[in-house]
Amino acid sequence: MKYISTRGDAPSLSFEEVVLTGLASDGGLYLPETLPQFSQDEIASWTGLDYKELALKIISPFVDGEIPEADLKCLIDASYDTVSGKGFRHEAIAPLVQTGHNEWVLELFQGPTLAFKDFALQFLGHLLDYVLKKRNQKVVIMGATSGDTGSAAIEGCRDCENVDIFILHPYQRVSDVQRRQMTTVLEDNVHNIALKGNFDDCQNMVKASFADQSFLPEGRQLVAVNSINWARIMAQIVYYFYASLALGGPYRKVSFSVPTGNFGDIFAGYLAKRMGLPVEQLVIGTNSNDILHRCISDNDHSAQPLVHSLSPSMDIMVSSNFERMLFDLHDRDGAAIKQLMDAFKAGGDLKLGDEVLAKARELFSSYRLDDEETLEVIRDVFDSTEYLLDPHTAIGVQAARKTRRSTSTPMICLATAHPAKFPEAVKKAGQAADPVLPHHMQDLFEREERYQVLDNEIGQVQAFMQAQI
Ligand SMILES: *Cc1c(COP(=O)(O)O)cnc(C)c1O
Repeated sequence: MKYISTRGDAPSLSFEEVVLTGLASDGGLYLPETLPQFSQDEIASWTGLDYKELALKIISPFVDGEIPEADLKCLIDASYDTVSGKGFRHEAIAPLVQTGHNEWVLELFQGPTLAFKDFALQFLGHLLDYVLKKRNQKVVIMGATSGDTGSAAIEGCRDCENVDIFILHPYQRVSDVQRRQMTTVLEDNVHNIALKGNFDDCQNMVKASFADQSFLPEGRQLVAVNSINWARIMAQIVYYFYASLALGGPYRKVSFSVPTGNFGDIFAGYLAKRMGLPVEQLVIGTNSNDILHRCISDNDHSAQPLVHSLSPSMDIMVSSNFERMLFDLHDRDGAAIKQLMDAFKAGGDLKLGDEVLAKARELFSSYRLDDEETLEVIRDVFDSTEYLLDPHTAIGVQAARKTRRSTSTPMICLATAHPAKFPEAVKKAGQAADPVLPHHMQDLFEREERYQVLDNEIGQVQAFMQAQI
């Protein structure tokens, strides 16, 4: 399987190469040249497989023999482990809970850091370790986080022998739970930097370091763990199949609603559909940072100032993975995407043609919630079911309820975080019950922390990194 860039002007890569690459050299994002196709009968034959067995069926054609099947199976088994106590805490890995008539929540927060990003980053960590050992190569991961990505990446890479991981978070601007999930990991290869600045400063520091990597020791390169990494998207396709099969698929259609930020998660759902999974609706839920909702509903894909919301993991101005969607919507015409993205960069706006917009509307429904409506949903769902939603998941649930076309089709709302990860928002909703951290994390506030506070100054950051590697 070859991987190609959305902008059509970068070398195509093998699977292993694409795992170690961030952006393509032409500024685009990598995608498989062709998608594996599964017939309904083939999908039906997977009924009853457990999560890991199913993951092997779905991931294997993307790897296409580059990693021997037995090794790939070991990587998947280690990534979705429920036995050691360090991995997932629910035997189903991604359990379903019913919250309404034919409405279900898919709990993707049973992993080590209580957010769905564990599904991708547990796998990516094991995959990197495997590929790097085979190549006898060491790399440096550098990433910026406003919360969830950093902790999931650190958990994914804490046992990787050939990886040093540096995660920058804005000093005193992430929640206590989020910070402690990162800074209480004390392995020697894990380095937390609290940068005196905001999230954008962290991101700019990472971008500048990727652009000029000469500060790294000989033979080292930087690897990205944000959702432009193809392996992350690929791992997320699995739970769409898993949830469908649990609710009568593939012979019965299902719908999905996804709280959306960078468009990585829902893009995996779109790919599942393209690969043969019968899906009726794909619903995009956004908070006040609503570029995707505006794009689908009004053809307005203009970058607007960032709003800080109660669902911080969806606070984005522009969704980086939307470019992958645009590539497909334009019949995979790389030159057209390059033109579109160049114009967007220059003018801050992007208009879809009539035909493309019609296709996008056929594929996606969308809905936007502000903080007040988000709190109302948390309250309503708790009142009717005693089930506590986190603010991100609440957005998906409400988007589903507002845009649903048929109540006879199961609606699966992706629960992207555990409510205890965002206790302030949940308390604001006025719940009788405070969200409680799962058992394995109850001592989080007693654990030793380790992190370095640094000025927003590239010389300081890179000197610190050099000293640690
Ligand atoms: C990252 C994140 C999202 C957004 O996912 P995308 O793939 O960026 O669209 C939603 N909810 C939570 C809790 C997250 O951590």
